[in-house]
Amino acid sequence: MADAASSSEFVDVRMVVDLGERHLAVGIIDSDGNVGVRDRVVTPTKDRLPALTRLIHRVLAATPAEQRPVMCAVTGPGPVDEERGCFSPLGRNDWDGLPIRDSISDIVECPTILESTGRAYALAAAGGTSVIGLHLGDDVDGGIVVGGRLLAGERGSVGAFAHLGVEVDGRPCICGKSGCLETYASVRGIEESTGRGLVSTPTSLITQSGMMVARACASLAAMMDIHRIRIGGVVVEAFREAFIASIHSELEERSRLTHLRDLDVAVSQFHVLAGASAVALASDLVRPASL
Ligand SMILES: [Zn+2]
Repeated sequence: MADAASSSEFVDVRMVVDLGERHLAVGIIDSDGNVGVRDRVVTPTKDRLPALTRLIHRVLAATPAEQRPVMCAVTGPGPVDEERGCFSPLGRNDWDGLPIRDSISDIVECPTILESTGRAYALAAAGGTSVIGLHLGDDVDGGIVVGGRLLAGERGSVGAFAHLGVEVDGRPCICGKSGCLETYASVRGIEESTGRGLVSTPTSLITQSGMMVARACASLAAMMDIHRIRIGGVVVEAFREAFIASIHSELEERSRLTHLRDLDVAVSQFHVLAGASAVALASDLVRPASL
């Protein structure tokens, strides 16, 4: 290999981890992003850190001896608390405060970077270009990529779109306001409003959800002057055509606005480790050569 150290037979690889409400997934990727060894478990309702630790040990045990992780990228429910090295999502105490970064670094013996699911999704969707990524999962999350670079902001959380106001006097939100995108387009918000599972959402509410997402897209495109918007996540997967049609119909009504005329809004879905892989490949944070 071109970058192999002269005295080493080791092959540098990166570990990627995704922490979701449904699964914990861990994999090993090469420098091209190809996933080698991978494993996943159902996310337990409690004792999540021990479950993650066991999964990581299992993946390491299955990884060929010559492959050595030089860093680890973890995606999970944002925002990330950089100081504590953990995820700190609003209203999700199961994740809040778990020392993910230090625990993984101790096991894998390499630097670990945490990123929110939505920001990582945007980076994966951008493919080196400019894009606004909107990830509609258990929470609404997202990211903005300009020329292949994920915008960070002062706290590294650009793209936390969950609490964009999309409806005056709309549904109450866990943040204390009302009418946030989160209440119309996240699994949690939708299920709380219907009292049913996501797949049983009535068509009228799917249409409403699409309309609210379109409003957010129009605002974001105007603010950022980026014409490609990519949407993914389990909500999109469950709602499909009716949802997408509603988004386009709402945007069509605003097509007299110049910046919306060529707005390209489309669905992009990836495998569960794609976001973490994009973060890992974009990161310079690797184990020092001396180790
Ligand atoms: Zn809110």
